[in-house]
Amino acid sequence: MSENIKYIFVTGGVTSSLGKGIISASLAKLLQSRGYRVTIQKLDPYINVDPGTLNPYEHGECYVTDDGAETDLDLGHYERFLNVPTSQANNVTTGRIYQSVIEKERRGEYLGKTVQIIPHITDEIKRCIQILGSKSEYDVVITEIGGTVGDIESLPYVEAVRQLKWEKDDDCIVIHLTLIPYLSAAGELKTKPTQHSVKTLLENGVQPDILVCRTEHELSPQIRNKIAKFCNVTPNAVIQSIDAPTIYDVPILMQEEKLDEVVIEKLNMKLKKKPDLRKWTDFLDRHKHPKGRVNIALIGKYVELKDSYKSIAEAFIHAGAANEVAVDVRWIHSEELTIRNADEKLQGVDGVLVAPGFGSRGMDGKLEAIKYSRENKIPFFGICLGMQMATVEFARHVLGLVDAHSTEMKEYTAHPVISLMAEQKSVVNKGGTMRLGAYPCRLVKGSKAWKAYGEVDLIEERHRHRFEFNNEYKEQFEKAGFRCTGINPDSNLVEIIELEDHPYFVASQFHPEYKSTVMNPHPLFVAFVKAAKKYHALKVRAGVQEAQ
Ligand code: GLN
Repeated sequence: MSENIKYIFVTGGVTSSLGKGIISASLAKLLQSRGYRVTIQKLDPYINVDPGTLNPYEHGECYVTDDGAETDLDLGHYERFLNVPTSQANNVTTGRIYQSVIEKERRGEYLGKTVQIIPHITDEIKRCIQILGSKSEYDVVITEIGGTVGDIESLPYVEAVRQLKWEKDDDCIVIHLTLIPYLSAAGELKTKPTQHSVKTLLENGVQPDILVCRTEHELSPQIRNKIAKFCNVTPNAVIQSIDAPTIYDVPILMQEEKLDEVVIEKLNMKLKKKPDLRKWTDFLDRHKHPKGRVNIALIGKYVELKDSYKSIAEAFIHAGAANEVAVDVRWIHSEELTIRNADEKLQGVDGVLVAPGFGSRGMDGKLEAIKYSRENKIPFFGICLGMQMATVEFARHVLGLVDAHSTEMKEYTAHPVISLMAEQKSVVNKGGTMRLGAYPCRLVKGSKAWKAYGEVDLIEERHRHRFEFNNEYKEQFEKAGFRCTGINPDSNLVEIIELEDHPYFVASQFHPEYKSTVMNPHPLFVAFVKAAKKYHALKVRAGVQEAQ
């Protein structure tokens, strides 16, 4: 029985979007709940160095880690499931691999050799996979390989997996995720795409150890046996992954299918205690059986693609469960919200969230939503650009600085209430040059934020922006009841604002959504949903009184 670090690779076949990230996170959760220390890594086969420069329409949200890495949104799932922070080492792209190999070549580190995909690129991939393993912080590293087997881009990754499996046979397994489609005309589940997908892997020298089969219908024992026989895996290693009502059900479904047990057996690991998923099932219970509902409007410019706001949507699920309510999110496109239709579009909402974003598109709709929430005393939560727009709105309509603006939208403006920090002014490169990652923030005692965080004085939150509240206006804002209640102790930058004369109007320059997990719902989301719940109850009570 070896005690070496164990590597689990998760590949995907047949089609994309099968949910490798959720399967990886669910398996990790099960192993963690047995007492193993687990981390998950994502290898992305695209040539961008990181997803920071990608349009959200391309790849969904860009997730930011404590160390300031701009990463794939799957890392958000890993953190939400495991409640353990990830870092740059957890996300590797082809761009990053090549960048590092080319830099080594320029430094002469290859001693005159011809630099090639095999062995140099594959060695660099293997090095990146093993960095996490060498940290001795983990017993198990799960590596999810983006894309689908057979893609040209994925080949060097599959080759690196083949080599690692050869070198560390006892400590490596491959889980292949495939699809078992149901043909309604034939009334049958079909295994052929899975057989072909496994063949593609085999052509690249990799025999999967476990098959996780996505399906809309139960797999019969006959089908499981057929898959096992044609794909050279043991029958207990054919795992059914049936469509689940929520992603948070998947660990439970995988436990029922004994995915963790099969992994432990195949890796010859010590069977630690039985998984303790009580806290998880408590959360699921509260999430699935809410005692009430609240309606939150989310104003953003990428609302057609919900993945662009993945962490916010998940943070609402965590905060809803904490408050024992379901949070119904009404996605409103900021370009479609105007002074004329604000009443109708925001009709019946219990809270308004203005989302992060870049550029001026949809800005007027965001300002309108903020004005509406401020004047009608509807709970409001602004994140990043949401806080910046709340500042502009207050400057224009309360302080009377009619041409107040952010210099992101208007470079030369009479009242630049949001402006660029001095160190950002000379930056020309786009990638990785924002204020990124975790920064400390001191909370003002007695403020709403301070109460939300459980009366702690110092917090740490993750950032991803260039522009900042302009401290030259701070006094003027504070005097009018716009309080700066979170301040960076090192740079004096304003990180949280709130309004005095309002039941709940809070906005943060940082992104709280990145740190919300199932086990630790984010305090600012919990407080916002709580305010929305209170607002809803008051509305209902007022309605009842009116009817009487
Ligand atoms: N565009 C704004 C900035 O760069 C806000 C960024 C964001 O919302 N993440 O400062």
